[in-house]
Amino acid sequence: ERGDRSEEQVSGAKVVAQALKTQDVEYIFGIVGIPVTEIAIAAQSLGIKYIGMRNEQAACYAASAVGYLTGRPGVCLVVSGPGLIHALGGMANANMNCWPLIVIGGSSETSQEMMGAFQEFPQVEACRLYSKFSARPSSIEAIPFIIEKAVRSSIYGRPGACYVDIPADFVNLQVDTNSVKYVECCMPPPISMAETSAVHVAASIIRNAKQPLLIIGKGAAYAHAEESIRKLVEQCKLPFLPTPMGKGVVPDNHPNCVSAARSRALQFADVIVLFGARLNWILHFGLPPRYRPDVKFIQIDICAEELGNNVRPAVTLLGDINAVTKQLLEQFDETPWQYPPESTWWKTLREKMKSNEAASKELASKIAPPMNYYTVFYHVQEQLPRDCFVVSEGANTMDIGRTVLQNYLPRHRLDAGTFGTMGVGLGFAIAAAIVAKDKNPGQRIICVEGDSAFGFSGMEVETICRHNLPIIILVVNNNGIYQGFDSGTWKEILNSGEAAAVAPPMCLLPNSHYEQVMIAFGGKGYFVQTPEELQKSLRQSLADTTKPSLINIMIEPQAARKAQDFHWLTSSNL
Ligand code: ADP
Ligand code: MG
Repeated sequence: ERGDRSEEQVSGAKVVAQALKTQDVEYIFGIVGIPVTEIAIAAQSLGIKYIGMRNEQAACYAASAVGYLTGRPGVCLVVSGPGLIHALGGMANANMNCWPLIVIGGSSETSQEMMGAFQEFPQVEACRLYSKFSARPSSIEAIPFIIEKAVRSSIYGRPGACYVDIPADFVNLQVDTNSVKYVECCMPPPISMAETSAVHVAASIIRNAKQPLLIIGKGAAYAHAEESIRKLVEQCKLPFLPTPMGKGVVPDNHPNCVSAARSRALQFADVIVLFGARLNWILHFGLPPRYRPDVKFIQIDICAEELGNNVRPAVTLLGDINAVTKQLLEQFDETPWQYPPESTWWKTLREKMKSNEAASKELASKIAPPMNYYTVFYHVQEQLPRDCFVVSEGANTMDIGRTVLQNYLPRHRLDAGTFGTMGVGLGFAIAAAIVAKDKNPGQRIICVEGDSAFGFSGMEVETICRHNLPIIILVVNNNGIYQGFDSGTWKEILNSGEAAAVAPPMCLLPNSHYEQVMIAFGGKGYFVQTPEELQKSLRQSLADTTKPSLINIMIEPQAARKAQDFHWLTSSNL
């Protein structure tokens, strides 16, 4: 009865690719090998962009950043066993950040289960801790169903990571084309709104606030709530504070941005509205001494289980941030209200901002080498294009860089995030560059790395050069983790002949020429020690829109942050 078999049959690999295509997946990052090579080839032939990387962890970071930037999950494709294990770091990071992501892992032959098959590992179970959804289709025919469910789960409710396991024997197995039904692309996430009575209560608490503060988190960035939040800020003349990746939802240079008085604003606000920001370590748990014991929190979040964590909120607004902000705006349209611009609260905040900004500028004015962090970042900020992506990681590099480098657009800052992950930078930069290439050609990506942070995924420089992505990597090099030694001290230690004459745990090799890594693959590399060299190399790197560059910026190995009222990670008082 059957005609030519080859025309009626389709491989498992092609079914995976077609199912992803049907769900509008545009980008796959991964590393091929047994058994997933055919999946990557099939995906490419359907027009899905496949970006081969050098470590699954970086590939997974890249795929997750695509999810955050586009609102549709990127895919990370990995081989069985160790390939999948390497990707777990990326899955965990995505899930902690509430970013959508699909990981597809090849796995060993089902007929050899429990026999010690090649790279055999309980992958579906292993992924469960790092994801919202983890499953293996029961047959090739079930692949489209599971992939649709994974994609839908990754973007509905609180976004997160999802895992789909594809056994090796499925990849090349042929089934009747007609037996495979592709599930239609899932609908965009439904938009939920807060209870009307809760919106009334929230508006009245805001109206009665003496020292109000809006905190804008990366949930607001992900929700594309920039227009409504900006309107609320301007209409009600409220001070706002972005979290690290909430930067740019409302531009950092907006007059109502109180970032430069962050600690002060948190410490004395009597009403705080949280727009997609959790009261975790980044916001010091919402507890004293970083906050007033009687501060009233108004929490806006899409995830009901988040509401009330660590602090009992005055009112909770469960729903989509953009929709809920519009509900709040309606209240202030009906009965207009403004927070008085001449209040003592504004005066306190402005004064603190002024003195903090002056202290940073003072440090930045030291231009004799070796440079400090502030000198470096002030010189970088001067040249940054307004619409560039800023990717950043490292300890001091990220923390100080965040206070100086400005974001003017939403979803244009990517950093170590909720999980504090080092090693994300190059993967994030690659994702941003690939997305920019398609949606906004010419846009630049500046990847600001500590020397230690750079090391985690440094070989992705080859990926950057192979794909010809004009990313600019700045390695702010202090010869170590937190701090290092200059080469003189280093030599003294090694030559001291004492038992302790080993490299201290925080030290990395002094004066490492990281720029040579970029040169090795055909990009431009610069080694700079003075502000003039930094200015010149950055100018050249920005002018060259065809090539990636790496600027290795030597700074004082013992350089530190300016004095802080509170250390970021501790809640103890002065
Ligand atoms: P930050 O690190 O910037 O403080 P978090 O990652 O802690 O931000 O918080 C982001 C919050 O945003 C999460 O609790 C998540 O559930 C929420 N969220 C994500 N998307 C939406 C949305 N569309 N509407 C409302 N809340 C959202
Ligand atoms: Mg360092």
